Amino acid sequence: MVAVDLGGTRMKCGLVAADGAVLHRETRPTPRTAGGRAVLDTLLETVVELSQKATADGHRVRAIGVVVPGIIDAETGTVVAENLAWSGTPVRAELIAAVGDDDVPIVLAHDVRAGGYAELRQGALTGTTNSLFLPLGTGIAAAMVVDGRLVSGDGYAGELGHTRFIHGETAELCACGQWGCLETVASAAAIARRYAARAGRVVDGSREVMELLAAGDEIAAQVWQDALTVLIEALVLYTTLLAPTRIAIGGGLVGAGETLLQPLRDGVHARLTFQREPEIVAAVLGEEAGCLGAALYAWDRVTSEEQS
Ligand SMILES: [Zn+2]
Repeated sequence: MVAVDLGGTRMKCGLVAADGAVLHRETRPTPRTAGGRAVLDTLLETVVELSQKATADGHRVRAIGVVVPGIIDAETGTVVAENLAWSGTPVRAELIAAVGDDDVPIVLAHDVRAGGYAELRQGALTGTTNSLFLPLGTGIAAAMVVDGRLVSGDGYAGELGHTRFIHGETAELCACGQWGCLETVASAAAIARRYAARAGRVVDGSREVMELLAAGDEIAAQVWQDALTVLIEALVLYTTLLAPTRIAIGGGLVGAGETLLQPLRDGVHARLTFQREPEIVAAVLGEEAGCLGAALYAWDRVTSEEQS
C-alpha cells in the first residue's frame, strides 16, 4: 500500500505491507502557502514517487490510500479543505489520472476518521463498539465509533471542534466562521495563540505553554483551565448523546499526559449523573495514525474487491 496523510503541518507518507508492517516512512512539506494547485501537485508527485519506490524495492502496489482534512464528497471524490486551499478540488480524479493504472484502487478518506480507524483496529480503541477518537491538534475533529461503525455522515460528521461552548463577549471568531467554537479554546493551536495574546509574547506552540504551566505561570494556568473546562463540556455532551465506553485523546496536546487526562476524567466523572462513564485514555499511534488508517482502508478495499 502507498499511504499518504495530508493532515497536520507536514505530509506523512509510507509504504505499508498487507500485515500492517510499515516498510518505509517519510514526511514531506505541504506547500500550503503556494496555493491549492501546488498542494495537489505535491500530493500527486508524492504518490507517483512512492509507487515507483515500492516497485524498485521489489514490492507490488496493490492500492493507494490518501487521507485529507476537510469535507470529502464520497460520490464525486472532490474535497473542500480550507487549510489546503481546496474548494471542491477533484482530488480522486486527479489521483486516478496521475497513477494511470485501473488495477490499483485509490481510496480517499478523512484524516481524523482514518486515524480513528487505525486506533480502532490496532490502537487505543481496540475491542470497543462505541468509542471516540479525539485528536487535539491544530484543529479538533472527532472519529466516532457508534455500534461498531465509524460514522462519516456522507463526509460531514464528527466536527465536534465546531460546536459552540463559549458565549457572550469572550467568544472568539473561529476559522469556520462561527464564534466560540471548542476549537478556539481547546486546540493545541488555540492554547498557544491565547497564551500569546494574554502574555503579549509569541510562544513555541502549546508545548511551551505546558512548560510554563509546570513552572507555575499564572497565565498558562488560566489558558489551560479554560481549555479543560470546554473539553469537559464537550466530552459530557458526547457521552450523553453517544455513550462511548472509551475515549482516546490524541494530537499534540496529549503530550501533556496525565496533566491533561486526569482533570478530564475527574471533570467528566463529576458532571455525569445517569450516563455510562467512559474510560479516558491517550491514543497510542501518535502521528502515524492517519497514515496507517489510509493503508488499512486501502487494504480493506483490496480484500473486498477480491471477495466480490
Ligand atoms: Zn469553528
